[in-house]
Amino acid sequence: MFYSERCDLCGKCLEFCPYVDYDLERAQKEMKDLVAGETPPIVGLCVTCASCNLVCPTQANPFDLLNERQEKTGALGIPEQAMQNFNKLHNLPTVVKKGKEGKPVLNLCIVGDMVRELLDNPLFEDLTIVEGADYFCTVGYIHLGKPSPVKKEAKRFIDNLAALGAKEVVCFHDDCYTLLTTLAQEYGLKVPFRPIHIFEYLYRELLKRKDQIKKIPLKVAYQSPCASRYTQGKDIYLDKIFELLGAERPARKYERVNALCCGAPLMARDKDRAAAVKKMNIDDAKNVKAEAMVFLCPMCYLNLRKICRDDGMDPVFITELCKKALAA
Ligand code: SF4
Ligand code: SF4
Repeated sequence: MFYSERCDLCGKCLEFCPYVDYDLERAQKEMKDLVAGETPPIVGLCVTCASCNLVCPTQANPFDLLNERQEKTGALGIPEQAMQNFNKLHNLPTVVKKGKEGKPVLNLCIVGDMVRELLDNPLFEDLTIVEGADYFCTVGYIHLGKPSPVKKEAKRFIDNLAALGAKEVVCFHDDCYTLLTTLAQEYGLKVPFRPIHIFEYLYRELLKRKDQIKKIPLKVAYQSPCASRYTQGKDIYLDKIFELLGAERPARKYERVNALCCGAPLMARDKDRAAAVKKMNIDDAKNVKAEAMVFLCPMCYLNLRKICRDDGMDPVFITELCKKALAA
């Protein structure tokens, strides 16, 4: 939600935006126009990364205003086919694979088919695993410049997870954690179980097996998904995982608050721009001599794995990195 009363039109949000090259004057002008109800160019140029929410000194949430305007005007120009493909995710079959009583639920949302082979991991033993339409958080609509379905569907999503009766729900997909924490709070919805981010869960399980961990002394760059801009607090668990594994997270330009989008939201709109963003990201990781790039989001992984490999970096999912340390 955009808090207009907090916005003093300082322009720091759009001056920061890594996908345009605005000076402060232009940033202030476009924010002024945006708040006045107009549709300045940034509405269509935005890649929906939500990073400007993080840099706003008054937490006014400028991206939320951009996102509303994108929905109202269609300024992102998302092709109809891409919209239809996303809508089809509501038809995915719902699957519940029962685990041991008392263990947490692991929600795969709609990424089940993308992460299937990653489930063969001792860290997921005995969990109840759910996926499909009933457990679809719908946060991806934000990247299509259409935030209203996310709010509309939020209660259904929470109720379906609550009906499973678990005390803890582990979110494999970062989007789900965003919905169950930051967005649920914003929508005034109660979540009657504890949402656990996959980083926290992995860290907790690794700690139980601390004596079995064989160090992985690699330089590993991290690709942060855009939904993480809403839930920065959990990143502390990634640092703790790296420490346990003995991996180094090299300081690079596009890291933490400066992290870049993987380019996936741009693929349907502008492939050349998507390729340029990917290159900036990978070149940056190479500059700090990263040997691998670790992923949290399946979409980021699918989108960047080839260019990673082509540039001599091993693309690896965070769950696999943890598994590797236990199997080493
Ligand atoms: S949204 Fe925040 S950063 Fe942007 S102009 Fe308003 S106060 Fe400044
Ligand atoms: S959401 Fe990201 S791309 Fe859009 S204006 Fe903010 S920083 Fe720029």
